[in-house]
Amino acid sequence: MTLNWIRDAVMLARLTRDLPGFLRRAVTCEAAAELVQQRVAARDERFLDVARRLIFDNPRSPYRPLLRTAGCEFGDLQALVARVGLEGALGSLADAGVCVSFDEFKGRDTRRFAFAESDFDNPSVTPHIEIRRGGTRGPATSVKIGLPFIADQAVDVAVALEAQGLSDYAHALWLLSSGVTVSLRLAKTGRWPAAWFYPLPSLTTKLKVGSRWLASIGRLPVPRYLDLREPERLARWLPEQNRNICLTCYASSAVRICRAAVEQKLSLERVNFWTFGEPMTEAKLAVIHQAGARATVPYGLTEAGLVAFACAQPSAPDDMHLFRDAFAMIQRPRAVGETGATVPAFLLTGLLETAPKILLNVEPGDHGTLTTRRCGCPLDQLGLTEHISYVRSYEKLSSEGMTFVKTDLLRVLEQVLPQRFGGAPADYQLLEQEDVTGILRLHLLVNPVVGPVDEAAVRHAFLEALAEPGGYAPLGADFWRRAETLQVKCQPPVATRAGKILPFHLIKS
Ligand SMILES: [Zn+2]
Repeated sequence: MTLNWIRDAVMLARLTRDLPGFLRRAVTCEAAAELVQQRVAARDERFLDVARRLIFDNPRSPYRPLLRTAGCEFGDLQALVARVGLEGALGSLADAGVCVSFDEFKGRDTRRFAFAESDFDNPSVTPHIEIRRGGTRGPATSVKIGLPFIADQAVDVAVALEAQGLSDYAHALWLLSSGVTVSLRLAKTGRWPAAWFYPLPSLTTKLKVGSRWLASIGRLPVPRYLDLREPERLARWLPEQNRNICLTCYASSAVRICRAAVEQKLSLERVNFWTFGEPMTEAKLAVIHQAGARATVPYGLTEAGLVAFACAQPSAPDDMHLFRDAFAMIQRPRAVGETGATVPAFLLTGLLETAPKILLNVEPGDHGTLTTRRCGCPLDQLGLTEHISYVRSYEKLSSEGMTFVKTDLLRVLEQVLPQRFGGAPADYQLLEQEDVTGILRLHLLVNPVVGPVDEAAVRHAFLEALAEPGGYAPLGADFWRRAETLQVKCQPPVATRAGKILPFHLIKS
């Protein structure tokens, strides 16, 4: 604990010293567009440079034993990239076992090699900020970020905002800890957020001290508490700003704000939601559009930063451009749960030498569609021709105690039930609760704002919709056994400790 405290003090001193220099020159749209194109053009060389310096020349790199087992020296890798290109080379490496599962990356699966999450830290990073997460689902996560990485990511943020016509928008946040990095990334593009609201009453001391300090040395707004259960306050606040404004928040928070706006007959037509943390679905998007607002969806990971951003000519609700200037992505089939079902899992490789973690074919725990498509939008023009969409998590699911593919349940919770009984996508939540004996109880929560519902009818409709053709197969027998005990409860949805409302939630007692 003391060591953490000293480390935090050293980082804060470093941040105080380096922040003015970092902020002195904002990255312009033009400069960012040029940089992205340069980075795309030099992908192969940049990958090989990162591999040589931070993997092959780093005796502590966890990838070395994997590469050794595969019989791959640096010269072999160079020749492979020259022969089959970057993605081709990554595919060959993955087939030879040079890939890291989500659980291996988190240090939870030590069957092949005993990795710790910190082994993946980039040894060349001098950190200014550390994102630490509690370890309810395993060991605690720590991501140490340097300002040069935030500057590198700001380049992608700048082109993303320009592509979506958001260049002149003001910004606000309704978030917890990631607020600092989100704010600094925006600041580097010359856009300090006008306000930062946080959705849960408790801010950690570190965040409280850190954000106040940033507010005093930079222009970061001091976070203000705005209860997750009072989205109507933001539904009023946003139009009161009387200008185009972009709110960064979780997808379900955006849905709740929009529903409150519709109820109060407020128009959010000058609002764009920058949402993350959970999938953007057709159903959520419909509610957002109903309030007159729009949504742009990035795909990001704490360990990797901003990976992809919404296409301006989308062909799916979450159609996004992979920032292939900063990442390479391939897919491999991955078995999920006990049913034998597989999903096309993403494997991510980082190309930025400033990145907090070195990623070489690492599973982020998500699957989806990965295609090359010329959409013609401004991001496409920069050479960002790879799209990802229908992004869903598979790892979170199994660690929440449910071993099935989420998409079917999402359809039922977000479409079938709201259509039949009223309410919006975020009003139905499947809650798993561990009682004191460790037994999992399954509850289907119906938000009281939906109005009185026949609980037996909701339960019946839920199970029936899952049993429909295409709905039944992915579900494990374990789920059906527990579904027998499924209880419908009228109560507001439960938020995670990060202030997120997920369609599935596990409470440990
Ligand atoms: Zn596009």
